[in-house]
Amino acid sequence: MSERLVDLHMHSTASDGSLTPSELVAHALEVGLAAIALTDHDTTDGVAEAIAAGERLGLEVVPGIEISAKRERGTLHIVGLFIDPANRRLQERCVRLRAERAARNGRMAERLTELGMPVSIEEVRAKSGGGVLGRPHFAAVMLEKGHVTSLDEAFDRWIAKGRPAYFPKALFDPAESIEMIHDAGGVAILAHPSQLLCDTAAELEGMVTELRDLGLDGIETQWSTATAEEMEEAERLAERHGLLRSGGSDFHGGVKPDIRIGVARGQIRLTGEVLEALREAAQARR
Ligand SMILES: [Zn+2]
Ligand SMILES: [Zn+2]
Repeated sequence: MSERLVDLHMHSTASDGSLTPSELVAHALEVGLAAIALTDHDTTDGVAEAIAAGERLGLEVVPGIEISAKRERGTLHIVGLFIDPANRRLQERCVRLRAERAARNGRMAERLTELGMPVSIEEVRAKSGGGVLGRPHFAAVMLEKGHVTSLDEAFDRWIAKGRPAYFPKALFDPAESIEMIHDAGGVAILAHPSQLLCDTAAELEGMVTELRDLGLDGIETQWSTATAEEMEEAERLAERHGLLRSGGSDFHGGVKPDIRIGVARGQIRLTGEVLEALREAAQARR
């Protein structure tokens, strides 16, 4: 039986992916997917284009977002599915976040210049291909201008956390992230649970419990870096905490060439049933 699969986590040029939203839709059709969700980082800017391409070519596109939320150690990612991209509060908050990040990028460029490594925002922007600017683009400019001899050196000596040109990135907190998604009519899903820097299964479960109390609706049980054991553990968490299942490849295009749309590294397989359960939950919220 060849059931058509879905992929509910991926990125376009609106954040850090290498394909435009339209190219992403064409690629998904090419490999035979039945539906995709576009979940760019902290922006819905690619959603309208993806939906239009989906309507033209015949592919369902679920409007989504992936919000980075701060925690004591690192960040966690919360995917919102079936959100209304036109939601005012969601857009206002994304705009505010972008302004804070633009200010941070300006401070980084200034600091690097003060440190004798002139870098301008225009140069950094040229490296981003129109997407969201971040430290990898700074590192690329530093390398190109001969300020460093490798991208690793740019991070390790200058722009990694605790280094002289590091400034913390503006982030939402988990409660705010879940609230924004609910406010926009969507369901909130904890993304790729193995990437949360939890040392033990108990720590992960503690975090899931906390997020569930904040209103989390679901958890990814299939994701790009997952092992079979990690996916089983996520299944058990979903079961124990009454959470919906979701997942996807976290496809980024050529930026992460080993991850393929729909299948990641070959270990994921999401059926239409997963999508229908999420759709029902989102409809029940309205
Ligand atoms: Zn993520
Ligand atoms: Zn992602």
